[in-house]
Amino acid sequence: MSDAMRAGAVWERVRRRLRAEFGEDVFNSWFKSIEIDHAADDAVRLSVPTRFLKSWIDNHYRDRIIARWSEEAAQPIRIDMMVRSAVTNRVPLKPKAAPESVRPIIQSGARTPDQAPVINGHSDALGGSPLDPRLTFDSFVQGRSNTLARAAALQVAQSRTTDSVLFNPLYIHAGVGLGKTHLLQAIAGTAQAAGRRILYLTAEKFTFGFVASLKNQTAIAFKEALRNIDLLIIDDLQFLQGKQTQAEFCHTLNALIDAGRQVVVAGDRPPSDLENLDERVRSRLAGGLTVEIGGLDENLRLDILKQKLNQARAQHQGFDVPLAVLGYVAKHVTQNGRDLDGAFNRLLASNRLTNQPVTIEMAERSIRDLVRVAEPRRVKIEEIQKIVAQHYNVSRSDILSSRRTATVVRPRQIAMYLAKTMTLRSLPEIGRRFGGRDHTTVLHAVRKIEGLVGQDPALNEEVEVLKRRLND
Ligand code: ADP
Ligand code: MG
Repeated sequence: MSDAMRAGAVWERVRRRLRAEFGEDVFNSWFKSIEIDHAADDAVRLSVPTRFLKSWIDNHYRDRIIARWSEEAAQPIRIDMMVRSAVTNRVPLKPKAAPESVRPIIQSGARTPDQAPVINGHSDALGGSPLDPRLTFDSFVQGRSNTLARAAALQVAQSRTTDSVLFNPLYIHAGVGLGKTHLLQAIAGTAQAAGRRILYLTAEKFTFGFVASLKNQTAIAFKEALRNIDLLIIDDLQFLQGKQTQAEFCHTLNALIDAGRQVVVAGDRPPSDLENLDERVRSRLAGGLTVEIGGLDENLRLDILKQKLNQARAQHQGFDVPLAVLGYVAKHVTQNGRDLDGAFNRLLASNRLTNQPVTIEMAERSIRDLVRVAEPRRVKIEEIQKIVAQHYNVSRSDILSSRRTATVVRPRQIAMYLAKTMTLRSLPEIGRRFGGRDHTTVLHAVRKIEGLVGQDPALNEEVEVLKRRLND
């Protein structure tokens, strides 16, 4: 048998094993297009259709291929990867265009001709970009709760492609309506104006795009599209669905970051709390800079309203809102930026429709349903641990430890109980945050305290005191 035939037979077996090991989708994405270019006894040269595939396989799968090959050939082997020239390219995977869902929402015009046509092909189809031109740094009002997030965002937006990347990825988290999307879009707009190639996607779009690309056999195009950008911005990461999509996202994250490209991600909670997220993604995210946007305090709410008024005045002649009314709205609409938007729009609508000046009475009437009884604020597990530890005069690390003396067992159980009743965290997540305990342990603690609170008025009072302190 010739070297080539032998190598061909070995490669068949290696392929089978890789397919079994990684699954059909990953196999099709990465290994399917590999061909043997040249084979000798102790060395093979494999080829792939694109430079991107080559570097990806080199970085992620090369060792695995070598190991499997050496096992199958029963001897150590050297492997070289190369890119097949366009002429001998026999791979039918090159799609004509990226699937619709891969279309970038925002994209810069600047692009050199040698870059993959995947995104290019769609720049026309993009037409009116859904990038909201109002969501800029100028219109983002700075307050105590968002200073750091804004500064980090600005830094990322203004750095040039050639600059070294300072924090990567930048992860911004906050509750709903606190300005995440506003900041991401401001980054996108600024970087785009500076000629950087950017891609702004919601995690849902990413998921959908990846899944669709697998179905359409355009996974490589999808990956190529992602490779060709300077700045990847992913919004609402909590909606990234599916193991495989997450693995792909992880690859993308790693590849971009390793290549010195910037990644910015926003989510509704810190990476450690993204329970459904692949551990690798979580730790990669945690390895960058994580900043939180806190709630909007009354001053900030007032400033945001003032800035909305300025925008509205420019568009609607004769429209004005007295400062006292803005103050009233800022005081009473406390939830988030979306409710502020809603309240403001109603004032505008009332004024435009009735031609009546905006007054406090009008404001009262039109925003009544937005004025909610103050919701209990978000309580953090760390805070619960801290307050409970203080209260029982133990240390927080005692609570997280495996010590089982009564002086720490009860406070620990109370803290777990409060974590379950005062946050939306799941039992496994709470277990993890309490020194890596099993969810059944948490469940036991919760039931235990629930039972005791019903029987023991003194304990009930203690728990109530703790709750009040946490809600302050
Ligand atoms: P998120 O993505 O965090 O849910 P958004 O970015 O969509 O929140 O913000 C909701 C609304 O509140 C938007 O209209 C946004 O412009 C406004 N908003 C939030 N924070 C600010 C801010 N600091 N300055 C100006 N507008 C803000
Ligand atoms: Mg958002």
